[in-house]
Amino acid sequence: MEEENKLKAELERTKEDLEDLETYTEEFSAFLPLAACSVNPLGVVVSVNAAFEKVIGTSALDSTGKRIEEFFVETNAIKQLLAELQKSEKFSENIQATLLSKNYGKRTVKVSASTRSDREGQFIGFFVGINDITELKDLQDRLEDKVDEQTRDLMLRAEELEKSRGEIMHVLSKIEEERNKTFSLVMNLSDGLIYTDPSGTISIINPQAEVILRVSHKEVLGTNVFDGDSTPEFQKLSSNISKDSGLEREIIEFSEDLMIEVSTITIRNENGEVVGRVIVMHDITKERALDTLKVEFISVAAHQMRTPLAAIKWAFELILASDEEKIAPELKKIAESGFESTNRILKIVNNFLDVDAVESVNMDYVFGPVNVSKVIEDVFLGIEITARERKVELVFSNEGEMLPFVQADQERLSMVFQNLIENALKYTIKEGTLTVQAHVQENSLLLSIADEGIGIPETEQQNIFSKFFRAENAKKTETDGNGLGLYTTKRIVEKHGGKIWFESKEGEGTTFFFTIPLYNKQ
Ligand code: ADP
Repeated sequence: MEEENKLKAELERTKEDLEDLETYTEEFSAFLPLAACSVNPLGVVVSVNAAFEKVIGTSALDSTGKRIEEFFVETNAIKQLLAELQKSEKFSENIQATLLSKNYGKRTVKVSASTRSDREGQFIGFFVGINDITELKDLQDRLEDKVDEQTRDLMLRAEELEKSRGEIMHVLSKIEEERNKTFSLVMNLSDGLIYTDPSGTISIINPQAEVILRVSHKEVLGTNVFDGDSTPEFQKLSSNISKDSGLEREIIEFSEDLMIEVSTITIRNENGEVVGRVIVMHDITKERALDTLKVEFISVAAHQMRTPLAAIKWAFELILASDEEKIAPELKKIAESGFESTNRILKIVNNFLDVDAVESVNMDYVFGPVNVSKVIEDVFLGIEITARERKVELVFSNEGEMLPFVQADQERLSMVFQNLIENALKYTIKEGTLTVQAHVQENSLLLSIADEGIGIPETEQQNIFSKFFRAENAKKTETDGNGLGLYTTKRIVEKHGGKIWFESKEGEGTTFFFTIPLYNKQ
């Protein structure tokens, strides 16, 4: 009896425990975030949890009693899932399906199920769990789209890269081709050529430059061109080239039979920064020899012509000086024109002789103190009448001032002033002012001769000191001229240790400047 009571009490407790467990399961299922429902063996929903109600969008009352597959688009797949589960497994696989939700429309979900059994292990239905993966799916789809898009983008970029790689390779091979062309051009140039960086370090020297300087590229590459001393020729080049930027031309006499015209060109990039320097050495020995021959020939001819010309001039003078009545007016006219022409030819002949005097090897310059004011005034005196006729005002800004003496050969210095002042007058076609000015500048006297004449065209300015050169506008304005005056003038100024240059604007005027060292008493 006691035994029976004990058993009863035990049963009672177990029942209570079981009820507790059921309540617990219900509560648990109510809180479960996963939508779940229990379905009877016929597939009819018997209970649902809160999450199920929410996702389906109908109350538990409306949901229960319906067939589970009615909640989905894929009715057959759901039916099959349960049928197969009932046959063999306790838990099903997850399958993807489309849930028809009243609240949210079609939702993508994962459906899983397990079988339910009673205490004796008898099959009493299913639990069906629904996991809403719409957001996840969307996210995944978006991610996939993004990945697709980026893949396409990458492919496109890879294609572009490949294309530009091809283009770069093409450009590189073109550059290489150009480089080779330039290199072989430089190497085969008949002129000597040196290329340096901005500081003067030699990076290229061609074979002709090696011959001229009597050096080997092995010893000079990487050394500085401004302090080369490996051979006397190289030393001469180093001490004569200028570090200034721009274009410099210098004639260097390496030996009696080697005359080189050296041009130094500064190379700049598009921002104006110096990136290198090219030194070109052009052998002018032959040209020089030819020039000397020409001058010699001309000077011999001029010398021979001078005496007969002087005689002709004298004859005309004689005719003109005779009594007015003795000569017919027509004859006088002819004599006057003959006299003028002879004078012109004599001037040309004298000009040739001036060049000869300047260029002859034994240039017997006699240096001494020279009063520049006097020289200028004398030249002015000689051209006064012509200037008045042409309405050109002659101005010597330092008139009356005591200018220091210069160290010069008086006759040659007169030639310089004469050439420059006569040119200034000759190339002033309208009326204007011709101004000569002098300034002391350190140990020299700086002189300037300014005119308001035709000017020198910019494109021709670099040739103005060359022998026989005449600018186009000058040829049109003044037929008389041989292009020897400025050449001679430059040679004389340089022989005095001075420099000569000019500033000019076509149609506005020209100013020539030159310096002559001051006379030093000691
Ligand atoms: P030319 O006998 O032709 O005057 P020069 O050697 O004296 O020869 O001058 C050379 C050239 O320089 C002239 O032909 C002319 O083109 C130019 N020139 C010289 N001086 C002037 C100047 N003051 N104004 C304009 N052009 C000048």
